[in-house]
Amino acid sequence: MADKAWTIAVLSGKGGTGKTLVSVNLAAAANEAVYLDCDVEEPNGHLFLKPEVSGEETVTVKIPEIDAARCTGCRKCVEFCAFHALAFVGNKPLLFDEVCHSCGGCALLCPANAIRETGKAVGTVSSGISEKVIVYTGRLNIGEASGIPVIKALLQKISNKQDRPVFIDCPPGSSCAVMESIRDADFCILVAEPTVFGAHNLAMVHELVTLFQKPCGAVLNKCLTSENPSEAFCVEHGIPILARISFDPELGALNSEGKIAVRESERFQALFASLLERIGKEARHEAASDSQR
Ligand code: SF4
Ligand code: SF4
Repeated sequence: MADKAWTIAVLSGKGGTGKTLVSVNLAAAANEAVYLDCDVEEPNGHLFLKPEVSGEETVTVKIPEIDAARCTGCRKCVEFCAFHALAFVGNKPLLFDEVCHSCGGCALLCPANAIRETGKAVGTVSSGISEKVIVYTGRLNIGEASGIPVIKALLQKISNKQDRPVFIDCPPGSSCAVMESIRDADFCILVAEPTVFGAHNLAMVHELVTLFQKPCGAVLNKCLTSENPSEAFCVEHGIPILARISFDPELGALNSEGKIAVRESERFQALFASLLERIGKEARHEAASDSQR
């Protein structure tokens, strides 16, 4: 694809636009690649890539554990917690662990040394291989409020994988979890549908990547011959259009059967290989412009 192994984040303003379709097919077209499923609330890239799983790690966060026997009831921890994760009930602090941000402050300040930190499982990261694509899948446990610890654990996996391109399948929308997912990306692909709603969602993710000063380009998915509000948005805002993927019954059928289109058809292999080529050009161009600034 390119002389450098780029880290490419694939985003969309909402689910169902084709973000995973683009991510898994790009990874498969690149052949030796890493695919990272950061859509930790509903990861589904593995349904397409069907990796042979080689391991699974539990992701934990630190939460306070209060020793009631030592606690003097001074309330200092409750007053300190900016996230209101501690309440004073029956003369003792009570923890609401789902809102605890694991800052460790309460344990540090407790004058009675009554608080120690303990690990709480919030999700998992599984590792596997699909042909030559290394697949990491993050899963957030049901009921957990934040996927960020699982996304951080996923990003750790690529810190020493600079020899092959990485494709990050981001969560939909523009939440903190998306911000975390694009943190290390060299380039962002914004996937958009050809509707007014698609253009609205595209505007949201474009605002996010602009805020993070990430170079980006758009993939317009499910294109019809009629007017495309997302394309109009790209033209108006100078966003490079990397590819237009037509509304295609064959692609739709492969996708609904959980198949990787580039592994099934030369036509789609050519489509995604050319998208890879275009991404490489854009990323190289941005890197060159950056070095001149
Ligand atoms: S700071 Fe320590 S001693 Fe004071 S209420 Fe909290 S746990 Fe108890
Ligand atoms: S670790 Fe931080 S966020 Fe969690 S309860 Fe203690 S002070 Fe609050």
